Amino acid sequence: MILAIDSGTTSCRTLAFNANGRCVATCQEALPLYYPQPGWVEQNAEELWKVQKSTLEKAARQVGTPNIRAVGITNQRETVVVWEKATGKPLAPAIVWQCRRTTELCQHLKAAGAEAPIREKTGLVLDPYFSATKIAWLLENIPGLRDKAEKGEALFGTVDTWLMWRMTDGKIYATDPSNASRTLLFNIHTNTWDEDLLALFKIPQHALPQVQPSGSQFGLWRGDPICAVLGDQQASLYGQACNTPGMAKCTFGTGCFLLKNEGSVIPTPQEGILGTVAWQLGEELTYASEGSVFIGGAAVQWLRDNLGLITSAEESATVAASVPDTGGVYFVPAFTGLGAPYWSPESRGLLCGLTRGTTRAHLVRATLESIAHQNADVLAGMGDIKTLRVDGGASKNDFLMQLQADLLGIPVERSANPETTATGVGMLAGQLAGVWEGLPYKIDRVFEPTLTEDERAHRREGWRQAVQRAL
Ligand code: ADP
Repeated sequence: MILAIDSGTTSCRTLAFNANGRCVATCQEALPLYYPQPGWVEQNAEELWKVQKSTLEKAARQVGTPNIRAVGITNQRETVVVWEKATGKPLAPAIVWQCRRTTELCQHLKAAGAEAPIREKTGLVLDPYFSATKIAWLLENIPGLRDKAEKGEALFGTVDTWLMWRMTDGKIYATDPSNASRTLLFNIHTNTWDEDLLALFKIPQHALPQVQPSGSQFGLWRGDPICAVLGDQQASLYGQACNTPGMAKCTFGTGCFLLKNEGSVIPTPQEGILGTVAWQLGEELTYASEGSVFIGGAAVQWLRDNLGLITSAEESATVAASVPDTGGVYFVPAFTGLGAPYWSPESRGLLCGLTRGTTRAHLVRATLESIAHQNADVLAGMGDIKTLRVDGGASKNDFLMQLQADLLGIPVERSANPETTATGVGMLAGQLAGVWEGLPYKIDRVFEPTLTEDERAHRREGWRQAVQRAL
């Protein structure tokens, strides 16, 4: 048995895979988020550990501890935890990736010209999303923390690091490049923490974990090796078997997360698209280009919960299919600003092209189209892609998947496996433990594009104009 810890933003899970790679146990518990001020998002790090531990222990009991060969960890990325080295006690709330409290700090650093060198070294953009400004904020604002960090008494980490520290009773303080490369502190050219960036954000290096390959021996949990660590989106790229350059995946959840395997070459994607580490196996690094759309399935939730236009997310497909097009309506769901490739935190949602004839069905259809258009904007910045593999809750919507294929002009392949993230890290752990070499990849359904070039260009242009108005 291989255990895969999947530490997500809203739930903690542990899955168990048998020697054939079949998932035989899934233990899941909800994890609360806290919103102490507008735009702030926190979690309680101790609670995160307790909830994760509970699912881990339940899964281990279900499959029988003696049967476990290896453990893998995949996790929400960028979120920062800080704790006391001597006691393992958190010294502040965890600042979650969604938290915008460092917007001003980012603006300040941008004005000082820090963005270009940061992008060159890390492949990222200067945005509150990433860990460095969150760490800087904690060091500035938690009384006594800077002093503790300077003396080596306080340790920072992403969620993988925090879980491993607790799982190994403080013996292991480590992370992997797929997580480190999301901090704004990690140089993807040298594969190490970057001294200049540490100085820029005033973060002492000894307050950061050791970085080791994603597939390697990190430590032992109750005698079994923790031998795979991957950030959640990279794990899903791995779980989608996108293991050759040019292959890409999109996870359709609350937001949409697109990654393309770039092989061993550090990507230089178009503006607004990120370059990041996909994984490190032995000495070999694989890179990815990446773009996140903040509001994906969440727009469908909004139709249901805020407008009451549909009673379930599934219904969006039948309602949208009841009209031949959106009747010229465009919806830009920039509720929390726009992510890649625009990075426009100030933007807000926009509905345009309304006429006296606009119906509920047009609005619902425009909402589904907005998800597909946003993804098409991201993929346009990643260069040539032959097919897109998809997973996540909203990928169950056939209508949306057909739209996605139509607006991209390439086939969309839906994975038969709904758990690509946990599977990805479980697969890697199983490889390292010698349980299997790889696992077969199964496609549920392929959606072929049906639009003519002209029609696609026409609809993309309408969307482009709508986005311009929201920027
Ligand atoms: P996350 O992991 O981000 O919580 P999930 O992968 O569970 O997300 O997907 C949930 C999201 O997908 C919700 O925002 C929901 O509105 C959307 N969703 C789920 N099913 C459908 C569907 N059939 N059509 C459109 N959106 C859907």
